This record gives sequence, C-alpha cells and structure tokens, in this order.
Amino acid sequence: MQNTYKIAVFEGDGIGPEITAPTVEILRALSERAAYDFDFIPCAAGAAHYAQFGESLPESSMTQAQSADAILLSAMGLPSVRYRDGTEISPQIELRKKLDLFAGVRPVRIFPGLNTPLKLAPEQEVDFVLIRESTEGLFYTQGCGEVTEDEARETLLITRETSDKLFRFAFDLTRRRKASGRGKGRLTCVDKANVFRAFAFFRALFDAEAVKHGDVQADHAYVDATALWFVLKPWEFDVLVTENMFGDVLSDLGAGLMGGLGVAPSADIGLDHAVFQPCHGSAPDIAGQGIANPMAMILSAAMMLTWLGERHDCAALKRDGDQLQAAVEAVIGAGHHLTADMGGVASTQEAARAVQNRLLSQ
Ligand code: ATP
Repeated sequence: MQNTYKIAVFEGDGIGPEITAPTVEILRALSERAAYDFDFIPCAAGAAHYAQFGESLPESSMTQAQSADAILLSAMGLPSVRYRDGTEISPQIELRKKLDLFAGVRPVRIFPGLNTPLKLAPEQEVDFVLIRESTEGLFYTQGCGEVTEDEARETLLITRETSDKLFRFAFDLTRRRKASGRGKGRLTCVDKANVFRAFAFFRALFDAEAVKHGDVQADHAYVDATALWFVLKPWEFDVLVTENMFGDVLSDLGAGLMGGLGVAPSADIGLDHAVFQPCHGSAPDIAGQGIANPMAMILSAAMMLTWLGERHDCAALKRDGDQLQAAVEAVIGAGHHLTADMGGVASTQEAARAVQNRLLSQ
C-alpha cells in the first residue's frame, strides 16, 4: 500500500509564496514516480495574515502543523508589520517553541558553482553541520524582556532537559554522518564557558553526554574563536552544537561562506515534529519580482525527504532526498540557471524548473 504523508505548508510572507509554489511542484513530481504520496495542506500564518486578521499563527494552522508528518515553511515576517512592542511577527519561532523543535540543523556545504568568498585548495572540503538549540537560550524571553526608561533585561535559559535532548541528537547525527561516509565523527560544543556560568553548565552537560559516545570525538570551542575559524579553516569542522543566539549568528556566517542566504537550507527538529525552511527571511526588498532564489527552499525540502525517509524507514524518500540535493548541486555547478543573487539572470521559476528537469531526467 502507498504511504501518504501529510505536509503542512506555510508559504508565509514576502518571497515566501514565490519559492514555495515551485518547491511543492517538485515534490509532487517526485511523488508521482515513487511509491509514496504527499497531501499538502496550506496553512495561513505570518505578518500579512496578522495585518489582515490580527493573529499571526491561527489555531487552525497550529492544529494542522501538529497533526502533519512534516512542516514545510518558507519565511515569515515583514519589517512594516510589527507587534505593539516593535518586534517583528515571527510565528516560526512560536512553532519551534510550541512543537519543541529543540534542534536547528544548518548544513554548510561548499560545492562547485557557489560564490564562496573563501579561496579553497582542492583538498579543503567544507562540509559541516551547525546545530542550534532553538527553543531557549537567549530567545527564551522573546517578547517578554523588561524595558524601563533606563535599562533593558533579557534572560538566557539553559535547561538540563533540553540540553540533554539536544546533545543526544547531536551525537547521533555526528555518528550517522560518519556512517554515511560524509563526516569525521567529530562534535564540537560551541559556548562561552570561560565567562558565563550558564555556558559552563551547558558545557558540563555536553561532557556528561560525551562519556556515553566513545565513538565520537567530542571537543569544545569558544564562540568568538569559532567565528574566526569559520573563516580561516572551516574545513576542520564536522558537527557543531550551540546555544540559540550563538547559533542564529553563526548560521548566517555559515550561509555567507556558501555565498549567500539563497542557498542555505535548514531544519528545526524535535522528537515528534520537524519544520523545514530556508535560513533566509522573507526578503521584502525583492518580493513580487519573481527573482528570488528558490535553491535554499528546495534544499530544505530535500532535508525533509531525508528526515521523513529515516523516520518512516522509507528507502524511496531517502533516495529522493539525496537526488534532490544532487540535482540542485548539479544545476548550480552548471551555472546556466542561476538567479540574480548568484550572478545569473534566471527567474525563480526557471531556476526551479532546471532542478526539476535535472531530477526527472535521472
Ligand atoms: P530574517 O531576520 O527574517 O531572517 P533578514 O532581515 O535576515 O530576515 P532576509 O529576508 O533574509 O533578511 O534578506 C536579507 C537579504 O538577502 C536581502 O537583501 C534579501 O533580498 C536577500 N535574500 C534573502 N533570501 C533571498 C533569496 N531566496 N533569493 C535572493 N535574495 C535573497
């Protein structure tokens, strides 16, 4: 019998709808030739929805997300639409908290055709994964920080419960990467344990988990030094795990190493749910022009296929995840259908169509 997977789709704001439509089309095309199917459920949420209806994440959308097998999300938020306290609408952060998506997975992989600012020797292969804790850290008090006339306070929270889950996830991912032939079996805890007690606690929890994973090489790095090494010797990293705000900043630096946000995918994963979305935001400056780069969104969809495949032990989904990623890399490597952010002239549709054609010709 054919398995049907329910996918909650948040097309979001700005360029969101433009990059979501061709991505869903690719997934549909893939499922048509495979022994699985998708039921795509459109879910309303975001800044435009808030401006119109006064709520950013309707209960009905939350319910759909909770009952879905996976969630595909483009980007939400618009600088012109804000809550009364001046902060931007970001239901994706609410989703992470409500669905307990503690592990933000941000792969950084430099392959031919990317506009990396690095000068790499042939043997210097950059292929690492940053895992950003996504439910607490300095984002814990989001929307609840105290601001008076003279001072502002936000609270950072690190809990044993979340950290234990996060580190178990990180060790497991490191092991799986090595087993698949892509990783070195090395996991680095990124913190600021030399200055803050909270990070000494974070590091101690990491060390306690490391003892249970003798097959993984566990080490530490301070976040400031990590930023430096991302630029000077990124090929030395394999998997890194860090706090929410540090991860937020480092993942954009990682996207920079890949040549820009338009090619940086991500996943926010918990024990029961997962959201797949590009690292970039809603890019309102180019929205509506049909020139947004769809590659980060398509690569995020590839991560979704792989995750679903592992979760449901479905070889066809895992194979299609690999093939979708390979098709994106082939199109970028060929350099003929690149969008403006990558120096090309292709439209969003043309770039996505090139991936679809490559994929279906395999
Ligand atoms: P957020 O805070 O929501 O992550 P942001 O403020 O970092 O968003 P983005 O919306 O990611 O900003 O946009 C940053 C810059 O990158 C903008 O100039 C935008 O046009 C560009 N950009 C982002 N995503 C894409 C894309 N998919 N294709 C082309 N350009 C993009």
